[in-house]
Amino acid sequence: MKDLRILPACLTARAARALLRLARHGGTALPGKLALKICPGLLAELGRGVDTVIVTGTNGKTTTSGMLRHMLDESGISYLSNRSGANLKSGITAEFIFCADLLGRSRRRVAVIECDEGNFPAVAEALQPKAVVVTNVFRDQLDRYGEVTHTRDCIARGIRAVPDAVLCLNADCSLTASLGDGVPNRVVYYGVDGASAEKAPTVSDAPHCLRCGERYAYRRHTFAHLGDWYCPNCGAARPLPDLSAEEIVPEGPGSRVTLRENGTRRAVTVALPAVYNVYNALSALTAARAMGWDMSVCESSLAGFGAMFGRMESMVLGDTPVRIVLVKNPAGCDRALEYLATLGDDVMPVFCLNDNLNDGTDISWIYDADYESLFAARRYERIGVFGIRAQDMRLRLKYAGADDSAVEVYSSLDELADAVKNAGRPVCVLPNYTAMLAVRDKLSSLAGGGKFWEAN
Ligand SMILES: [Zn+2]
Repeated sequence: MKDLRILPACLTARAARALLRLARHGGTALPGKLALKICPGLLAELGRGVDTVIVTGTNGKTTTSGMLRHMLDESGISYLSNRSGANLKSGITAEFIFCADLLGRSRRRVAVIECDEGNFPAVAEALQPKAVVVTNVFRDQLDRYGEVTHTRDCIARGIRAVPDAVLCLNADCSLTASLGDGVPNRVVYYGVDGASAEKAPTVSDAPHCLRCGERYAYRRHTFAHLGDWYCPNCGAARPLPDLSAEEIVPEGPGSRVTLRENGTRRAVTVALPAVYNVYNALSALTAARAMGWDMSVCESSLAGFGAMFGRMESMVLGDTPVRIVLVKNPAGCDRALEYLATLGDDVMPVFCLNDNLNDGTDISWIYDADYESLFAARRYERIGVFGIRAQDMRLRLKYAGADDSAVEVYSSLDELADAVKNAGRPVCVLPNYTAMLAVRDKLSSLAGGGKFWEAN
């Protein structure tokens, strides 16, 4: 028999959403929270009969989920998905409610769900996904989840609740790869064999062997702690990838990637730049295969997949082309800085730093990010700084070798917007999470775009 609380829970969520919209409030958590209070088992009910893929991990969740959605769009398959960063259980539940009738029967048969690592055990257990993708495990928001092994163990706990799910794991991340050890699940690994950096990781989030504690060595290294790792002491090593990027050649804004799978090779175009987006493409492709989707459509769709909300987005404000690249932890920040460096000297970077709860209140990670390499390579005429912790950001840039006399600190969003509009050159904004929400909202409204929550 159906849980009698489903109907009141779904009705309440819909009413809450209607009220929030009337109040022009962008909050997305409340309807799901209320519904779960009324009916704690609601998500499991709503997920019944839906083929779900869950994407979790520290970096790349949103891009990977976006690639999966784009694959379904191109395949002409309708689906439900949480888009606007609502990746906690409450937001995911709300998404299912709004795609179901009042009795909790979903109108969609396929779901692409991006899930926060901390919420993964509860969400996975409820949804019983067909496939789970883990992108990587990095140090992130320390004050929320403790050490990286804690994040890894959290994901492992979720995996134990879904023995029937196919696990799609990043072989190049030792923490992620270890999730496939000794589980009853079918496990598929992906990794990058081409495009290795010369230098071994200097700063690593996962320096030591999970089995014996010895320091990992690398045959090849892509970035951060990712690469062809092995333990010289106990023999633990990167699993052989089932799907590998054997060669990566820059092409247009993105790359041409030679894939190797079961001894066969073929090339795909990935429209987004840099090797971390090759990882995202590989994770999406392994998931698509696990879900049983049409692979020729999925592979060719990657050529047409552009930037996504917040992660990398472009707009034009007045005459100024603006790019917004979300940064939220050292590894992600290093990728964004590398990208910024590729734009040359004639851009204005704007660094935005908040320390609200959703940012992880500890902002000391900016000292782990490699701003030094950027300022060793680039000299900017104007540098913008904004946010609650603007002065900390300014100090960090100064230590990294930025010309302090080029730095402008904006005390309001209006000031920032004016500076962007009158920059006289392209602008690249690097905000952390809540700064991104505010800055994006401001700039896109001036550029004539909508607020992010209206995109749903
Ligand atoms: Zn070892």
